[in-house]
Amino acid sequence: MSITSFSQLPLNPALAKRLIDLNYVIPTAVQSASLQPVLEGQDLVVKGKTGSGKTLVFALAILNKLQLQTNDAQALVLCPTRELADQVAQEIKSVAAMIGNVKVQTLCGGVSIEPQMRSLQHGAHIIVGTPGRVEEHVLNGSLILTEVQTLVFDEADQMLDMGFTETLESIAMYLPQMRQTLMFSATYPDKIMKLATQYMRSPELVEAQEEQ
Ligand code: ADP
Ligand code: MG
Repeated sequence: MSITSFSQLPLNPALAKRLIDLNYVIPTAVQSASLQPVLEGQDLVVKGKTGSGKTLVFALAILNKLQLQTNDAQALVLCPTRELADQVAQEIKSVAAMIGNVKVQTLCGGVSIEPQMRSLQHGAHIIVGTPGRVEEHVLNGSLILTEVQTLVFDEADQMLDMGFTETLESIAMYLPQMRQTLMFSATYPDKIMKLATQYMRSPELVEAQEEQ
C-alpha cells in the first residue's frame, strides 16, 4: 500500500512530530511506496535515483525501533564513501533529535582508528561507516554487532562497483541472523539481486515511479 502522508504510518509520536518540524510533509515516491513495509519489518531492496529521499526510509526504520535504555549498536549502515556516510549520519541525527540521546557513530577510513575505538567504548546505538573501516573495528573487537536489528546497504551498486563484496561478506559473519536488512540502490543490476539473495529474507523490490 502506498501512503500519501507520513501521518498514516505507525511512527513513534516524537518522530512523527519531528518530521513536521523538518517540513517533511509529502512523502516522496520512494518513501510512499516503501515506508509501510519497512516499518512492518520487511526486507526490501529500494531502487531510486539520487535525491529521491531514500535516507529517510532507513532512518525511520532504524529510529522507530531503537531502544535507548541500552548502549548496544542496534543498526549498521554501510556506505561506499566517507562523504556519503557523513551525510547519512547527519540526516539520522537530525531526524532523531527529539527522541532522546541517540548516539550515532561514524566509522570511516582515512583518519586514525584509535579515537574511533575509544569513542566506541562509550557505546553507540547507530553505526554509519564504510566497509573497510567497519570490518577493521569488528575484527579488532571494538565493534560488537550481535545486537544489530537493522542492516542497511546504502548505494549498494556503488559499493559493489568499488570492490567491497568480500568485505561485506566478512562483516556479515558477525551479524545476527534475525535482523531486518534494507538495500538502497540507484540501479538494479544482476549483482544487486545476488547480494539481496545472499543477505536478505524474502526481499521485495520497490521501484518507485519517477516523479515528473
Ligand atoms: P537519496 O539518498 O535518495 O539520494 P536523500 O535521502 O539524500 O536522497 O534526500 C534528498 C533530499 O531530499 C534531502 O535534502 C532530504 O532532506 C530531502 N527530503 C527527503 N524526503 C523529503 C520529503 N518527504 N519532503 C521534503 N524533502 C525531503
Ligand atoms: Mg542516499
